[in-house]
Amino acid sequence: MSKFWSELAKSLEPYTPGEQPKDKKYIKLNTNENPYGPSSKVIEALKDGANDNLKLYPDPNGDELRKTIADYYGLKDEQVFLGNGSDEVLAFSFMAFFNPNEPILFPDITYSFYKVYSNIYNIPYEEVKLNKDFSVPINKLHHSKGGVILPNPNAPTGICLSLKSIEEILQFNKEKIVIIDEAYIDFGGNSAVGFIDQYPNLLVVQTLSKSRSLAGLRVGFALGHKDLISALNYVKNSINSYPLDRLALCGAVQAIKDEEYFQETKNKIIETREKVSQELKSMGFLVIPSLTNFIFMSHTKIHAKELLYSLRERGILVRHFNHARIDNHLRVTIGSEEEMNTFIRILREIVPV
Ligand code: PMP
Repeated sequence: MSKFWSELAKSLEPYTPGEQPKDKKYIKLNTNENPYGPSSKVIEALKDGANDNLKLYPDPNGDELRKTIADYYGLKDEQVFLGNGSDEVLAFSFMAFFNPNEPILFPDITYSFYKVYSNIYNIPYEEVKLNKDFSVPINKLHHSKGGVILPNPNAPTGICLSLKSIEEILQFNKEKIVIIDEAYIDFGGNSAVGFIDQYPNLLVVQTLSKSRSLAGLRVGFALGHKDLISALNYVKNSINSYPLDRLALCGAVQAIKDEEYFQETKNKIIETREKVSQELKSMGFLVIPSLTNFIFMSHTKIHAKELLYSLRERGILVRHFNHARIDNHLRVTIGSEEEMNTFIRILREIVPV
């Protein structure tokens, strides 16, 4: 290995994605995918789109999809930016809005990609320690030097901030960019989108991977003041003119348009989440109230890692994070009702009473 590469590899710790197993069929509750699959209208659009036009490059700006998203949220097309999953939108945002001289703020327990982006783009950061109950100490997010990024609801805790708290962060950071990563907002939280026209420092990032069941299509987007969107386009056009392919663009339009399917499936997930939370509590689990499509839980009688391995042996994948403060917690995606019944049944066999 060259010295350059070994030094770089030592200094960077890349994000480790959740496992996508190939050895056998598991009940996959480890990467917050949606169990219900995309709308049939999306599938039809993808079939229609698989035609001779694939020889042509896609629309670099994804105008039809941007318009569909803008209409959905009552914004202008110029306030929408598209990316290859929200991970790419977030990466471009770090490049566009943060800099090597002013530390940004994010919670110490949060989406681990933020630290990875900070390291690779040379952006200093301060981790704001969450309270003991994992709530966000909002006052510690006042007056950032370089900007703020946080998921709302937070991941992997599932805790959602009120719009009042989000507005407080925006008010105190008027000269800096505040990025609210709303990957899980559709499962019961209130979106900050309504603040966009009032706060030109706000960028809201969302994804079609969770509530729209399209993790495999890779579509994410940002909403904000048109100047922020122009900055993102500048970065994008310096890296990759065509982040979204033709199929992703036409499938995503249908996903946004099929409101009925979206409501039906996300409501089912919310219902299952509430039912499973109750069952877990009755088994002695500590369950943090979640407004996402996952549950963050721990138990005093069995360590999270032991539970992780026991579940795996029985064909169920859940997620554990190597982080000292949450070493005894597991994040469990809400699957279909049937999957969750199996999960609970198997847990009852493993967990000491
Ligand atoms: N933000 C958060 C908080 C997430 O948990 C995820 C999913 N891993 C993402 C962003 C990225 O999602 P995607 O790239 O699939 O849009």
